[in-house]
Amino acid sequence: MAVRRVLLAEPRGFCAGVEMAIKALSWMVRVFEAPVYCYHEIVHNQIVVDRFRELGVIFVDTVEEVPEGAPLMLSAHGSAPEVVLAARDHGRFVVNAVCPLVTKVHHEAKTRARKGYTVLYVGHAGHDEAVGTLAEAPEAIRLVEHPEDIESIAATIADPSRVALLAQTTLAMGDWTDVMDEARERFPDLWTASRNDLCFATTNRQEALTLIADRSDAVIVIGSANSSNTLALAKVAEGAGSRIVLRIDGPDELDLEMIGDAEIVGVTAGASAPEELVNAVIAKLAPSEGIENVRVTDEDEYFPPPRELRDLLPSLDILLSVALGGDPDKARELGGAFRDDRTVSASVVLETLKN
Ligand code: SF4
Repeated sequence: MAVRRVLLAEPRGFCAGVEMAIKALSWMVRVFEAPVYCYHEIVHNQIVVDRFRELGVIFVDTVEEVPEGAPLMLSAHGSAPEVVLAARDHGRFVVNAVCPLVTKVHHEAKTRARKGYTVLYVGHAGHDEAVGTLAEAPEAIRLVEHPEDIESIAATIADPSRVALLAQTTLAMGDWTDVMDEARERFPDLWTASRNDLCFATTNRQEALTLIADRSDAVIVIGSANSSNTLALAKVAEGAGSRIVLRIDGPDELDLEMIGDAEIVGVTAGASAPEELVNAVIAKLAPSEGIENVRVTDEDEYFPPPRELRDLLPSLDILLSVALGGDPDKARELGGAFRDDRTVSASVVLETLKN
């Protein structure tokens, strides 16, 4: 049976942090001679990473792989303090594209540790964001992946009245509340941020998906397998009772057989998945009655470029204009001048880089 309608979650796809990081790396690609280096994947999306690779960006897992004096970007997920320090050695030009909301959790981890708290950090072992946050106060932080972990960790905590609970920004809401309930029971004086650490982009996307999941015969979540917020979206859809939940990187992975006889298909995308993939997936679904947008809120958050690029702002536009033969309109055609950063979207910049 053919798909009749697509329920399209809003918001979906790129969040303000990913927008900022992609545009910042695009700036580096346009301004510096290749290769530009990036510590870890700029965002967890294969298509975005591959597109930058084609432009000569080299992704590395250690800063030692980056030659002296080379331009280097640190990814949106945040890096351990010793990585940031090592990156700045040897005359490298370093742009730290960490999302400000991840920085906020880093700051809280340090502050609570300084105040003598044991910090329980709810996150995924080995995920770049978790690794970076744990490194902020390794002596005071314990990683919690499941509610059951609380019991064994509790036995090692000397002062149960000084325990704080922080979280990776991209968790599924249910995973966070399960651990929080368990921790509150164990530690009645538990400290948590007044609003939890799950970021607005994570919660908005999950909320929008919840609205469409129980109206859909199948749900498609677009995003890469190593993207935490994408996996959280798939979990939310399953939790909402969706019969079929597919997580795909893009249209090439969509086999229409997999959605069986679904007539109504819900579609969303993780925070690092480009809108062009959403469009391509919907084109493949070819809904006979079209698309219904289901919006929970408008997102108008904007994160300005990393400080290191902002400091270079005047020279960047001059450099670009010189590179383009002084033609002011040419810069706009190529994705905008630096001063246009707020109005130009990362999707447009990515599309432009492809041409
Ligand atoms: Fe920042 Fe949230 Fe986006 Fe992560 S998902 S980059 S924390 S806005």
